[in-house]
Amino acid sequence: MNVPFLDVGAGYAELQSELETAILIAFRSGQYIGGAEVEAFESAFAKYTGALNCIAVANGLDALHLGLLALGVKAGDEVIVPSNTFIATWLAVSNCGAIPVPVEPDRTTMNIEAESILRAITPKTRAIIPVHLYGLPVDIDPILELAKERNLFVLEDAAQAHGARYKTRRVGAHGHAVAWSFYPGKNLGALGDAGAVTTNDSFVARRVGLLRNYGSHAKYVHDARGFNSRMDPVQAAALRVKLSVLDNWNARRSHIAQLYTQGLASREHIVTPIVPDWAQHAWHLYVIQSPARDEIQKRLLAAGINTQIHYPIPPHLQGAYADMGFGRGAFPIAERLADESLSLPIGPHLSDESVSRVLAVL
Ligand SMILES: *Cc1c(COP(=O)(O)O)cnc(C)c1O
Repeated sequence: MNVPFLDVGAGYAELQSELETAILIAFRSGQYIGGAEVEAFESAFAKYTGALNCIAVANGLDALHLGLLALGVKAGDEVIVPSNTFIATWLAVSNCGAIPVPVEPDRTTMNIEAESILRAITPKTRAIIPVHLYGLPVDIDPILELAKERNLFVLEDAAQAHGARYKTRRVGAHGHAVAWSFYPGKNLGALGDAGAVTTNDSFVARRVGLLRNYGSHAKYVHDARGFNSRMDPVQAAALRVKLSVLDNWNARRSHIAQLYTQGLASREHIVTPIVPDWAQHAWHLYVIQSPARDEIQKRLLAAGINTQIHYPIPPHLQGAYADMGFGRGAFPIAERLADESLSLPIGPHLSDESVSRVLAVL
């Protein structure tokens, strides 16, 4: 029997009756864009994350893009981003006409830190996008302090960090705004595309609310040049069902991560993830590093175990950013992660037995 990287279908099966009840209610309501179902999810997710406001949007990329626009990022501005992230973080900046300025991550946490961000700040810098990569919160307090000193905005990319905690509080309202993706494979995943912005800033909340709906707060009155980026009630209904099991599912992910870390403790050629004591990891991904990555992946696959690489080509080496002129060697830590990192199977429905099989091959 094969071990899948992530079994999204098993998540649907566990919640089938609750999901289908909720979805049918949404379909029968006669309301297919926005409305009470979406508002109910927005308040539930705001409450869960500890943010004062949640604005549902169509996907995670839009959450980042509209979040940046709401913070006032405009053409020609510079926005600091990690050199190792999913390309959406960079694209959101480019979509504003702004320039992504990459910063290398710390080698142990794989997240960017205040010290290296400081060195990348120029008079054009307007905002910083720390990414809670793989589900591990960034050390955000020093970044917020730096941002305050330099008059910069902080938009967190929390697409991989649903339920993660920084110190005592859940990710959701530390920075000026937080962008979420509910892509089906995320810790909190919809049955299609969906996203949200959470924030304690009511001005930013109002602005994202305008931008997602043609810049309009009242029908046919347009205060801004907006977009169409709305969540539909069916996704909101499914997300509300899944939010109720998020902590349980994350606990299961955390248990699997513990099994991996214990099981791999004595493997000299494999580096396992570090969790600082102030962090509660959401374990969206369990990422190991090894110079023998390709060989390990091949042998796992031969044993029927599916793994993935997050991410095989860093954004600065993608064709999409060829015009920025970054060559190989420009961001060695991101490049090394691309060459040596491997994401092991993890998810709420992966059995202990499957984990043992992965460990046996490793
Ligand atoms: C998934 C993801 C996104 C984009 O989310 P979509 O909903 O697919 O647009 C952005 N940033 C990171 C780090 C992600 O993992």
